[in-house]
This record gives sequence, structure tokens and C-alpha cells, in this order.
Amino acid sequence: MSRKYFIWVFFVFSLSCSSDGDSGGDNQPIGETVDKTPNQQAVGDTAQDLLVDETFTSLYLELYYVEGLRPSSETIDHFTDFLERRLNKPQGIRIELFEMTSPGQESYSVADIRTIEDDIRTAYNDGSALKAFGLFLDGAYAENTENGSVLGIAYRNTSFVLFSETIREFSGQPLAPSTTVLESTVLDHEFGHLLGLVNAGTPLQSQHQDVEYGRHCTAEDCLMYWTAETGEGLVNMISGGAVPPLDQACLDDLRAFGGK
Ligand SMILES: [Zn+2]
Ligand SMILES: [Zn+2]
Repeated sequence: MSRKYFIWVFFVFSLSCSSDGDSGGDNQPIGETVDKTPNQQAVGDTAQDLLVDETFTSLYLELYYVEGLRPSSETIDHFTDFLERRLNKPQGIRIELFEMTSPGQESYSVADIRTIEDDIRTAYNDGSALKAFGLFLDGAYAENTENGSVLGIAYRNTSFVLFSETIREFSGQPLAPSTTVLESTVLDHEFGHLLGLVNAGTPLQSQHQDVEYGRHCTAEDCLMYWTAETGEGLVNMISGGAVPPLDQACLDDLRAFGGK
């Protein structure tokens, strides 16, 4: 099964959100025109800007979660560590969480998700600060199949979604990994796509692209293996309750392109 990153439709949608962050201080001043186009490119287009510190010296992540689906603090700590190990951001990496009410749909297409982002996102690249957006959503992906429950999608150069309710359905099964391990894995995996993996903007240093499954790695124990973003696959992939790391081939790609 392949992910569909690049199909967009516009329509109007509205929802309310509230901040539980300490400031929301990265919001642009009212009345100032914000150029959103640098944050509306294809997945992988910003891979090198994320990895190096030449244009952008800091990274800010604006993460929204539907009420009841807040990622655990362990997940955020794990994700912060994952980013700090790979990205050259001497001015720091900062994550803020914001609660939102449910958009109210049982399922969401990528077009729906893009529209939700356009309605609530406030953080766009600003000077030397690179900004990214993440959504922890209820409901399910509209293109799920009987054996393929999508847990996350990277759908723009600085945007990703996790299907947090679906993640909880899988972590609630007998003998399944914890919610924290599942959501941490999907979070790392989707951000791996933003970092241009595999052959999605970051050039291959060796032949390890699983072409049948698109932008994924051939190593079954690598974070970027295709099963890491479907529930059925991920429950079987995780052994010993640990988040799968990037394998050497994926690390080599990131380092050759300017990552740590
Ligand atoms: Zn993937
Ligand atoms: Zn790999």
C-alpha cells in the first residue's frame, strides 16, 4: 500500500481551538501578511533546511491535538531527543502543544486534513526560525482498508498528521505495545519523511529504497520500514516495546545531506 502525499483540494471548514501552551508567542502579529508558501511545498522539499543550520538555526513545532488525545510527555520527550540527534539547530528545537475540539468527522482525507491545517496553523517560517505543524487527530484515515489502518501521514514539507484514535485502538489490543511506543514510532516515522527519507528529497547513499512501498526503507527493523505507519504492520514490527531506530543506511543518507 502506498501513501498519497500530493493530492490537494480546497474547501472551507471551520473549527475552534484553544491554547494550553504558555504563550502562543510564535503567532504572527495581527495585520502582518504572512507568506505561507514556503510551508506549503511537497514532502521532502525542506529536508536539507531541517537538517542543516545555514538558513534556519532553530525549529519550532506547533502541535495540535483533539481533546482527549494529547500525546504523552514521554512521547514528546522521545520526539525531542530524536530531533536533537539528527538536526543542526543551534538556536534550539521547541515544541508547543495546543488542544482543539474535534472537527467532528468519522474519517478524514488528506484534503480534509490540509484544510484543517490551513484553518488553525499560525506558525510559518520567520527569519532564521523554521516552523512545522503536527496534528493528533481523532477518527480514521478515509482510505483505510480492512488490513491497512493508517496511523500517520506526512503530507506537506513541514506538516504531518497522526491518527491518534486509531493508534489507541491498536495499543489497546492484548499484548500490543503501549500508546506511547506506538505514537512515538509514528511521530518519528512521519518526521523521517519530512527529512526526505527514503529517496524523498534526501539523496540515497546506498540502494535501500523499498520501491514497491514508495518512500520507505528495505530494512524490516528500520524506523522507515513501510509497516511503521499502519496499525496491523506496526503491532507486529515492534518487539520488546522499543521504538524502532533509523538503520545505518537511513542515517548515512541524512548525514550525507547535512544532518548530524
Ligand atoms: Zn511512511
Ligand atoms: Zn532505513
